[in-house]
Amino acid sequence: SAKAQGGNSVGVFTEDMNDRGERRTIIEMNLRTSIDDDHLMLEYQPEVDLRTGRILGLEALVRWNHPVLGKLQPLEFIEVAESTNLAGELGAWVLDTACAQLGQWKHDFRELDLVMSVNVSPVQLVSLDFDVYVKQVLEQYGLLGSELCLEITENVVVGDLRRTRSTLAKLERLGVRIAIDDFGTGYSSLGHLKSLPVDTLKIDKVFVQNLDRSEGDRVIIDSIVGLAASFGLDVVAEGVESVGAVSYLLDVGCVRAQGFLMSKPKGAEDIERLLEVGALTLPWNVDSNDSRR
Ligand code: C2E
Ligand code: MG
Ligand code: MG
Ligand code: MG
Repeated sequence: SAKAQGGNSVGVFTEDMNDRGERRTIIEMNLRTSIDDDHLMLEYQPEVDLRTGRILGLEALVRWNHPVLGKLQPLEFIEVAESTNLAGELGAWVLDTACAQLGQWKHDFRELDLVMSVNVSPVQLVSLDFDVYVKQVLEQYGLLGSELCLEITENVVVGDLRRTRSTLAKLERLGVRIAIDDFGTGYSSLGHLKSLPVDTLKIDKVFVQNLDRSEGDRVIIDSIVGLAASFGLDVVAEGVESVGAVSYLLDVGCVRAQGFLMSKPKGAEDIERLLEVGALTLPWNVDSNDSRR
């Protein structure tokens, strides 16, 4: 058996697992082969219209089923990928897998107009010919550019502005949508919003999670929604965990959101069950004024 074969070394391995440095070493050692060995997988979190529950799109979120460490969350290995030259390969796998999946769902659920959102790491975005790769993947799976939304963080925007601007312009010509992820926590300036071809602001979940309890967060949300409106951008809230947050978002006119309250990220099979209905059953009554603040 595996246990007999591993003997003591497995025991030592397990004992050291909690050690951060040790975990990181394991992650570093295994990341490259994880891509080839099919140990990575995507989960998808629905983005919904808070008024109707209609599923507007899905965000692809990578997970790694590590044979020893178990299911790893991306924050633990994305950073390793970035610092070990694997971000490009990992990102390419995610983009390809997410687009293949959307191609399939587009075929299976023709009546839904779904957009697939994919997180793009800074390294990927500034890599040579990123737009060429995106174009090729879209063509391969029969997708329109407008069916893909690439999520970049504010810090990418400030990184290599020239490169970023030129890549985003090429992606814009493909019709691909661009969202600024985790908006409100980074360092981009309003000038960037004006000069870059961005379509959507995704409000960081730190501002959404405590909406019910934090007046400061409500002010920030209100400002971001107003900012988006002024620039003609769409706005999406992430991290919706309470009905209170929903009612505030609806009050200020933010109707698109993701959050555990509506749905956690799920594997493809579970998502298919939701797509068969096309909308989520919302845990609040949107027609009733009682649910409003
Ligand atoms: P993100 O792009 O901002 O994704 C949203 C994260 O918030 C996801 O965590 C999601 O599971 C979580 N989330 C969604 N709704 C709620 C909620 O109501 N409450 C709480 N507490 N959390 C919620 P996840 O999957 O662990 O991903 C974390 C981050 O890792 C992502 O943040 C993104 O920056 C990065 N990431 C994930 N997948 C990829 C990928 O394929 N490529 C790259 N470059 N980064 C990725
Ligand atoms: Mg994201
Ligand atoms: Mg555009
Ligand atoms: Mg976020």
